[in-house]
Formats: sequence, C-alpha cells, structure tokens
Amino acid sequence: MSRLIDGKAIAAAISEQTAKRAAGLRARGITPALAVVVATGDEGTAWYMRSIERAAARNGVDCQVHNLPLPASPDEIVARLAGLSRDPAVHGIICQTPLPEGIDLATAGAAIAVAKDIDGANPASLGMLAAGVPGAFPPATAAAVLEICDHEQVPLSGQRAVVVGRSTVVGKPAALLLLARHATVTICHSRTRDLPAVCREADVLVVAIGRAKLIGAGHVAPGAVVIDVGTNPADGGGLVGDVDTEAAGRNAAAITPVPGGVGPVTTALLLRHTVRAAAGPEDTA
Ligand code: NAP
Repeated sequence: MSRLIDGKAIAAAISEQTAKRAAGLRARGITPALAVVVATGDEGTAWYMRSIERAAARNGVDCQVHNLPLPASPDEIVARLAGLSRDPAVHGIICQTPLPEGIDLATAGAAIAVAKDIDGANPASLGMLAAGVPGAFPPATAAAVLEICDHEQVPLSGQRAVVVGRSTVVGKPAALLLLARHATVTICHSRTRDLPAVCREADVLVVAIGRAKLIGAGHVAPGAVVIDVGTNPADGGGLVGDVDTEAAGRNAAAITPVPGGVGPVTTALLLRHTVRAAAGPEDTA
C-alpha cells in the first residue's frame, strides 16, 4: 500500500506561516479581510462557510460571509462583487458556487478585481496564469496540487504529469501550473480515448473529475504520485474521491486521501492568498 499524504498536516504548516504574516500586518494596522459572496441557499455551502470562517479565525483573517437575499439576481451578484472590489478594507473575494441560474462563475468572477481574486475566478486571472504574467492568483485548488507536490518533494521538471479534468477552476489551471514547473503535461477529459493507458504514462496523476472512485489500479503506473481532487458524496454520508484509494494505492508511491488531502490545503491557500493580497503587490513571500 502506498503512503497516504497528510493534507491536514500540510495545511497546518501553511496556516502557521499565514497566521504569523497576518499578525505582522495587524501590527502595522492592516487587518487581512476575506469576503465570501453566497448567492444560493445550498446546504453544502453553509457547511463550507462555517469551516472557512473557523479556518480564517485561526489564521488571523477577518471573514465576512455575504449571504445575498434569495433569490439573488445576476445583477445583484455582480454589483456586490464589484462593490467589494472597490472596498479598501476588503483584500480577498470569493464568489461561492453553486450560483443561481442565469449567471456562471466566469461572468460573476469578471466583477472581482484581479488583485483581490484570491480564488482565480476572474477569467483575466486565468489568462495571466496562461501568459505567465505575475500579479494574479491561481484557483486555490489548483495551487493546492502544486503545494502538495512541493511539500512531498515530488520532482516535476521533465516529469510526465497527467491531469484528468479540464475545468477552468481545477484541471486547466493545475495543468498550467505544472507546465510552468516544466512538467510534460497531458490533459484528459470525457472524450479521451483509453483513459487508463494515458493515465499510466503519468509520474504525477492529478484527478479532478467528479465521479466517485473512477480511477483504479489500472490507471496508475508503479511509483506514480496520485493527487485526488474529487469530492463526491459517499453512500452513507461523508465524502469520497475520484480515485479508488485502496486499489490505486497498490501501485502508487503516494496518494492523497479524501477527505483530508487536497481540501484542507485548498482552504489554507485561500487564506494565504488573502494575506498576500492584504500585504500588497510587492509581497512575494
Ligand atoms: P467539472 O467542472 O464538472 O469538470 C469535470 C471534468 O472531468 C470535465 O473536464 C470532464 O470532461 C471530466 N470528466 C467527466 N467525466 C469523465 C470521465 N468519465 N473520464 C474523463 N474525464 C471526465 O468539475 P470540477 O469543478 O473541475 O471539479 C472536479 C472534482 O473536484 C469534483 O468532484 C469537485 O467536487 C472537486 N473539487 C474539489 C475541490 C477541493 O478543494 N478539494 C475544489 C474544487 C473542486 P468534459 O470537459 O469533457 O466534460
């Protein structure tokens, strides 16, 4: 059985640094502030908001959840995001999904100022990432994939990386980040022929599909590192990933569990990004 990567421990290490930097900013009179706009009454979102609020408090970040009156119209969502973008006391902005009918994340995200777009929702942020232009934040989940690789000292330069999933929030930005680190990257999706064979080419296999346990032992080359981004409702409650951890783990060198893998690292990075945004553009730490 492969080694399970401890996402909670990685998140704790990130949070420790973030809390120190947030304390430094507070000492200079800057209170790092994250605003999350919630536009539906989704139950999962309410649970996630409580967990973000708790994590923000631990990291020294003020977290304001803006629950819009329901049903929220596209204009109201865009107006709130634009207003927060103009508010100097707000440093990071998240537009929480799901969104109501009539507006997609790209349209809403375009109303978030790039400097405050700490979850990479503005298509301009993705464009800057693709162009290699500094100053934009990648989506935190995609950044979490790289953070986990770095923490686990997984070599990337010259290695084969396969990303399954091409969404703008996970698959595409994760592939761009891996490419920027000189991996040879293949992106797979629902039309990919012989997915198991393509996946077996990977030294690093990143899976962001949204189909419970789709990836098994036959998709994993011996010694590969597997990062499972998927979060799917499990029978009987809880969460299950896109990877069958037990089966894939027979071949993988290391694998992220679900829960306790990518998720906590993603939350920690949202807060790190907020503190970076509060510190201003000269901040590179
Ligand atoms: P998405 O927008 O639905 O995209 C899913 C991608 O998977 C699409 O590109 C789709 O291909 C591809 N796909 C679907 N079925 C496939 C199959 N049978 N074989 C190969 N590819 C297939 O999903 P997402 O937003 O990227 O999220 C993916 C998963 O990550 C979900 O489980 C989500 O809950 C989870 N997630 C976790 C976090 C976290 O922090 N842990 C954050 C975000 C998302 P097509 O493009 O061809 O349709």
